[in-house]
Amino acid sequence: MMDTADPRGPIGASSGDGLDEAIFQKLRTNFRGELIRSRDDGYDAARAVFNAMIDRRPALIARCSGVADVVAAVTFARENDMNVAVRGGGHSVPGYAVVDGGIVIDLFPMKGVWVDPEARTVRAQAGLLQGELDRETQMFGLAVTGGRVSNTGIAGLTLGGGSGWLERKLGFAVDNLLSADVVTADGRFVRASEEENEDLFWGLKGGGGNFGIVTSFEYRLHPVGPIILGGMLMYPAEQARDVIRFYRDFIETAPDELGGGCAFVTAPPEPFVPDPVQGTQVLAVVVSYAGPIEEGEKAIQPLKESLPPALDMVQPIPYTALQSMIDAGNPSGMQNYWKAGFLDELPDEAIDVFVEHAMKVTSPLTSVLLLPMGGAIRRVADEATPLGLREAVFNFHAISMWADPMMDPERHIRWAKGLTEAMQPWTSERTYLNFIGDEGEERVRTAYEPEKYRKLVALKDRYDPTNMFRLNQNIKPGARSSAAPA
Ligand SMILES: Cc1cc2nc3c(=O)[nH]c(=O)nc-3n(C[C@H](O)[C@H](O)[C@H](O)COP(=O)(O)OP(=O)(O)OC[C@H]3O[C@@H](n4cnc5c(N)ncnc54)[C@H](O)[C@@H]3O)c2cc1C
Repeated sequence: MMDTADPRGPIGASSGDGLDEAIFQKLRTNFRGELIRSRDDGYDAARAVFNAMIDRRPALIARCSGVADVVAAVTFARENDMNVAVRGGGHSVPGYAVVDGGIVIDLFPMKGVWVDPEARTVRAQAGLLQGELDRETQMFGLAVTGGRVSNTGIAGLTLGGGSGWLERKLGFAVDNLLSADVVTADGRFVRASEEENEDLFWGLKGGGGNFGIVTSFEYRLHPVGPIILGGMLMYPAEQARDVIRFYRDFIETAPDELGGGCAFVTAPPEPFVPDPVQGTQVLAVVVSYAGPIEEGEKAIQPLKESLPPALDMVQPIPYTALQSMIDAGNPSGMQNYWKAGFLDELPDEAIDVFVEHAMKVTSPLTSVLLLPMGGAIRRVADEATPLGLREAVFNFHAISMWADPMMDPERHIRWAKGLTEAMQPWTSERTYLNFIGDEGEERVRTAYEPEKYRKLVALKDRYDPTNMFRLNQNIKPGARSSAAPA
């Protein structure tokens, strides 16, 4: 809770968290939201992030109630030379939302959302989680591509690109971004769109949180649901090779409305899973059909006829149910190590290698996704966004997840690295930065085409020359980057 009395000791003293009391009080008089320090109730909950491997202790968590708080927090951080983390939903696997000793500028309370059903647009504040945004837009039978787990933050997700079940029909989230409000490192408020600050707008469409703090996003919406055809077809893992081969050819000519992918998972102990299947590894074909239900049923018929699933759970369901269908398999508070890669092609040999590795997962919580690209993703001009690889055929994602921090983490990490290395012959140099951990400066650079990376560095020089926003998939300012001429 925000304090009203002053239990924090005399002005001028430091309180043990390194914050000078007088300076802190100055911020407090100019801040409407909650300011949380290490001695406050709720500190541990407020610093926890999705990945339990990350355990950092910020000096201050500034929970912003609005844009003015964001400006105040940025100004405070700059004037006091503090390390900054920006937090949306706290889902980044490298834990970029929290920093040791510095300030977390936390947008969690900023949950305003305004749908314009006539114009089919929505303005959404940056503290919203995916499920919260979907809930409001679905009231009008509208949606934008969003993350596959409902408690992922829309902010980090969108700034990294925004991949979701609807992407073959609607493109990535950034392909539907109309504008964004941003607080820059020097504390200015700017709007970025095709009409204003269009260079910044371009950079936000995949350049991550490098250029400022986005306080709200405006998206184009599309008719989706509220009931759609969705769910999973489950196959024994032994059939995975045949299913993936069929799926690869089938999805190539399938309508854009058909999204989803193939996922190796351990069947959960849920009543809808037959007893003998529970706890065994299965291949799930996820189905999401963003169109009329009967057309969706026709579209998946060839798959079901050629390869009858052991368990057919595809049915008309609320779009919001599809959007939370894999929530239970992705609980917060687990240990996580993630790798990913865009595949330029998926020949039979690559499928064999993929399946062989996927079947050796080291934890029942681990899943491996093979997400089909194509459709609307491919129709967006490559230069329209920093994101590369619109020609890729699949994006694979190795989600190594385990519960016990003491249980040989290296084994789980080795497995994810092993799968990625084995897939190297078919993997592009580019990658989807939202799906990986912190792999260093060089990895960020190669995620973008060289010309785009140069443009991003120039933007960084312009909007954040001191690299205040560095706790992210970081694009360093020109003078600091190893890309800079000696
Ligand atoms: C279970 C799970 C499922 C996922 N599913 C998908 C998926 O389907 N599709 C997909 O594309 N990604 C997915 N992701 C990845 C996810 O999009 C990224 O981890 C993303 O960074 C999460 O955003 P966040 O706001 O929750 O994270 P945070 O950890 O809060 O932030 C992530 C990064 O964005 C920056 N940032 C956050 N908010 C702002 C802001 N307002 N302004 C500027 N910078 C900001 C942070 O500083 C940080 O660098 C998933 C992640 C998890 C853990």
